[in-house]
Amino acid sequence: MDANRNKVREMSIARTIEKLRKNNMDAAYLPSAQDVVPMLRSMLEEGCSIALGGSVTLVETGALKLLRSDSYRLIDRYESGLDAAGIRKRFIEAFGADVFVTSVNAITEHGELYCVDGTSNRVAAMLFGPTKVIVIAGWQKIVPLLRDAVDRVKRIAAPANAIRLERDTPCVKTGYCVAPFNDDRNLMSIPPGTCDHGVCSNMVIMGRQQVKGRLSVLIVGEELGY
Ligand code: SF4
Repeated sequence: MDANRNKVREMSIARTIEKLRKNNMDAAYLPSAQDVVPMLRSMLEEGCSIALGGSVTLVETGALKLLRSDSYRLIDRYESGLDAAGIRKRFIEAFGADVFVTSVNAITEHGELYCVDGTSNRVAAMLFGPTKVIVIAGWQKIVPLLRDAVDRVKRIAAPANAIRLERDTPCVKTGYCVAPFNDDRNLMSIPPGTCDHGVCSNMVIMGRQQVKGRLSVLIVGEELGY
């Protein structure tokens, strides 16, 4: 990346980290995806129980491989052979985990995390249950404002996830949401009946946290996930 552009990026990351900390979240910058595994090792106690939010970032950074090692007790939602009832059982067990590791769809420079989920086991455990939540996100997920976070989901995160999950949604065919523009009075602005098989059921904004340090956000200086 051009040095001047990189300087602008670094200032955006620094602004975001400062605001996340003011919202009672721990936040740190990791220059490279290779820094994620050593950082997780330093944050996780041997033998702790860990649950996962569905995330391409965890695969790309090697975090999933680490969490599957014998050092931890992973509540593995991806274990082969699980039927729907078995996966649901893992989702419920996640609420009692010591640590929940996941990513997000966007982070605002105002210090908020933004997630849009279908099943919503991810956002449910981020909001309540596990003692600690560790969020890993590529720097490209930083946006200035909440309305930019909504746009990011409509134009990047949700269409990419719908393609990955082989859903029959309008965005799989066009690459953007059936309602591609938000309006300030109705941010998601999805007309009922226009996307019945989508991945955008619950839209969650995480602002100031009541339990200081329960949420840790690791912003990585590489593009990761959706
Ligand atoms: S509401 Fe439907 S069309 Fe819009 S982004 Fe979500 S899944 Fe895609």
